[in-house]
Amino acid sequence: MKDSSLKELMCDLGRSMFDRGLTHGSTGNISARNEDGDILVTPTGSSFGRLKPEDIVTVTTSGQIIGKKNPTKELFLHKAFYENKESNTGAVFHLHSTYSVAYSMLPDLDEDNVFPALTPYSIMLLGRVKLIPFFVPGDMALGEAIKGVAGKSSAVLLANHGPVVAGKNLETAANAIEELENTAKLALILSGAKPLLLSNTNITDVINKFKIKWD
Ligand SMILES: [Zn+2]
Repeated sequence: MKDSSLKELMCDLGRSMFDRGLTHGSTGNISARNEDGDILVTPTGSSFGRLKPEDIVTVTTSGQIIGKKNPTKELFLHKAFYENKESNTGAVFHLHSTYSVAYSMLPDLDEDNVFPALTPYSIMLLGRVKLIPFFVPGDMALGEAIKGVAGKSSAVLLANHGPVVAGKNLETAANAIEELENTAKLALILSGAKPLLLSNTNITDVINKFKIKWD
C-alpha cells in the first residue's frame, strides 16, 4: 500500500474510533510500516477525531523524522513491536480506552493471560494478552518491558494506562484493539457473575483450528 493510502486509512480508522468513544481528547496513537520499512505515525498532541493525512509523520529506518510535526511521544511503545524480529508487525494501535483501563486496575489479574476465556474471538484476534505493570508516562523502561513479550504476544495491556496492539496491517490491528476493548467490557460486565467460560478443550480447539500462537 502506498504511503498516501496508509495515511488516509490511519485517519479514517482513528476518526471512527474517536466518534465511537474508543479514545478521547488527544490520547491514543497509530502507526504503520510502509514497504521501505519506515514508520508512519500520528503526531504528538493530535486527536483521533481530527487527524489529517498531511500531519502524519514519517520516521525512516535511519531515524530521520519527515513531516511538519513531531511524532507521538509514545512512539517507543510501537517500536517495541516493530523491532522484535519474531513479530510480523505492519501496524500498531495504542488507546486509553475506558473499559481496558478500568479492567487493568482489577486486583489479582493473571499477568501472563489477563482475560478470562469469554469468547473465541478474543483468542483468535489477540492470543494471550499480557499485563505490563505500571510505569510513569515517558519511562523508556516501559518499551523494554513490552519488547520482552512482543515476540510472544501481539497485544499487551499497560496497567492504569491502556492497550497496545500490533497486527500485520492497519485493519487487522484496529480490529484486534477493538476486540480487546470489547473483551474488557464483557469481563467487567460479568465480574462477580461467575460466567460459564470456554473450557480448556474449547480453547485448544479454537487454537488448533485457527492456528493461534498461544504459548
Ligand atoms: Zn498512552
